[in-house]
Amino acid sequence: MAGSRYAYVKSFELADPLLPSTFFVIRIDGKGFHGFSKLHDFDKPNDVRALTLMNEAAKRVVGGRELNGECVVAFGESDEYSFVFKRTCKLHGRRSSKLVTLVVSVFTAAYIALWPQYFPNSPLSLDHLPVFDGRVVQYTSEQEIQDYLRWRQVDTHINNLYNTTFWALVLQGGRTEQQAEQELSGTISSQKQEMLFSQYGINYNTLDPMFRKGSIVIWEEEPVKAEDSADSPGAALPQAQPSADAPAAPVESSENAQPTAADAATAPIKM
Ligand code: ATP
Ligand code: ATP
Ligand code: MG
Ligand code: MG
Ligand code: MG
Ligand code: MG
Ligand code: MG
Repeated sequence: MAGSRYAYVKSFELADPLLPSTFFVIRIDGKGFHGFSKLHDFDKPNDVRALTLMNEAAKRVVGGRELNGECVVAFGESDEYSFVFKRTCKLHGRRSSKLVTLVVSVFTAAYIALWPQYFPNSPLSLDHLPVFDGRVVQYTSEQEIQDYLRWRQVDTHINNLYNTTFWALVLQGGRTEQQAEQELSGTISSQKQEMLFSQYGINYNTLDPMFRKGSIVIWEEEPVKAEDSADSPGAALPQAQPSADAPAAPVESSENAQPTAADAATAPIKM
């Protein structure tokens, strides 16, 4: 139809490339997961099956052929995942709509395809499908990317401490959800930790690190073999280094370029 008299409509399409040479993060978030988690009876405050499913869907995004290894690290908590891309990414001419929709679509498709493995007794319905929105944000320095990941991890901690205390009050303390909310309003972190420990015998610091710190997926290239040339693609790829206070990411597979999910470290990420 290229030469037709209708082709002028094509010119209404606006270019939407990301700036060259910037890092960018695509963050997806589940739509209405407060209700969705109730519908499928997620364990509160943290359903391990749901978190694992998020991690597996993220691994499919990071390791899938669609992104071609351009996303090097991803961080997840609750119903959200952040995918961090290399500065040099040239996928789809860096068109932001293409990139965001691709990540959302691959993630959602994987989430739905994997759902029966994690919730075999709670089938999805067409009326209440798990759907995700997405956005892209560009960053110019490694420092900003590190701070971005720290920002999401601090959010994980704040939300998890609140949710853990809230559900202890409801499930163990017999409060209504409204009473629990009132009791927690205005409390600071140390008060919540104290409440958990003295009233419910829960030592917050010993809870599953996945709940407290989130999950991280790291793209790992197979080490370059001696006979490969020094400038082969695997040679200069990033490694995530765990900080002193967080566990190192276990490598799950020796296959070439597998994404791995691990407890999130507040890691200095080299790119
Ligand atoms: P929005 O559409 O604006 O994102 P939302 O209902 O998805 O609304 P969020 O702020 O994204 O709200 O919060 C997600 C909610 O999903 C959490 O508050 C929690 O109730 C629920 N949720 C997500 N993952 C889990 C999980 N693994 N275990 C238990 N609950 C979860
Ligand atoms: P891109 O990723 O760039 O979109 P593509 O392979 O999806 O590449 P399109 O230009 O979108 O290419 O064209 C879609 C192609 O999918 C068609 O050319 C056709 O080969 C195939 N296709 C889609 N729907 C049908 C269908 N209903 N029956 C047969 N073939 C189909
Ligand atoms: Mg949202
Ligand atoms: Mg949500
Ligand atoms: Mg959310
Ligand atoms: Mg197509
Ligand atoms: Mg097409």
